[in-house]
Amino acid sequence: DLGPETEGLVIAHYGVQLDIEPPGEPGNTFRCNLRANLPALVTGDRVVWRPGKDKTGVVVAHLPRTSELARPDQRGQLKPVAANIDYIVLVIAPVPEPHGNLIDRYLVAAESVGIEPVILLNKTDLLDDTNTTAIRDDLLKVYRDIGYQMLEASTVTDHGLDALKSLLEEHTSVFVGQSGVGKSSLVNLLMPGINAKVGELSESTGKGTHTTTAAHLFHMPDGGMLIDSPGIREFGLWHMDADDVIHGFREFHPFIGHCKFRDCRHEQEPGCAIHKALDEGHITPRRMASWRHIVRSLEEGN
Ligand code: GDP
Ligand code: ZN
Repeated sequence: DLGPETEGLVIAHYGVQLDIEPPGEPGNTFRCNLRANLPALVTGDRVVWRPGKDKTGVVVAHLPRTSELARPDQRGQLKPVAANIDYIVLVIAPVPEPHGNLIDRYLVAAESVGIEPVILLNKTDLLDDTNTTAIRDDLLKVYRDIGYQMLEASTVTDHGLDALKSLLEEHTSVFVGQSGVGKSSLVNLLMPGINAKVGELSESTGKGTHTTTAAHLFHMPDGGMLIDSPGIREFGLWHMDADDVIHGFREFHPFIGHCKFRDCRHEQEPGCAIHKALDEGHITPRRMASWRHIVRSLEEGN
């Protein structure tokens, strides 16, 4: 006794069951089973489903993904954890002190899955005479010059929150970044009442309270959706091939493929277009060193 086929959005999944929401009906979730012929679905997936009795239903088809985030499972096999994400918001803060190489690793990871990164400097209330120049000017200038979207915020003073909300509106985003930069604080501020300590997230459904560490999709009151989970926050370079890292360095793009030797490693080879760009100031020494560092660390397997 199923109702007609309709579109839906995966809000969360619990083993073989999924919480599905009709579009435009935040909070109206249906606990659904998956038709046997379908692949594993993840939070953020769009589906076709049929409602059943008592807020249940059956998912009958999977709509194509525009993007997906994956991470390795216990066996080291890459498994998608979230789909259809528009923005990876990379949160940094004056404390813990931000490092260019770590920012670059996140950016490379975002570029590798084709999701637009946005750099958010949180805790601007902690900027002072000694760290402002180092962070805003020295560290972040290169990303501004490359053309990345840059935002600032403070969950203490509410600085920048309107701009953040308007960026997130009509999009699906995830927050990533080092522990302690303020991701939970931002999530809680954007979604009052949810208290999204996602690792301990519990949600009330018709069938009692569940605790999950799986990715969960949240609607923000002013529009826009966040997908959050501890695993997503740790998003990194799990599946990167060392040779692909260079594509995550946007300002290198015009020079890739223009070296004299097709197999140029951009070390000391003559006619290296990347080195020429470095000499001419199109690439900064810091980013060049960062690219090398990431390639080496992947080659060494960490
Ligand atoms: P997460 O590990 O990235 O989720 O970071 P949390 O949200 O747990 O925040 C880490 C610490 O930074 C907590 O003590 C927060 O109260 C604090 N914090 C978060 N946002 C801000 C901010 O905008 N300004 C200041 N001064 N502290 C903040
Ligand atoms: Zn080269």
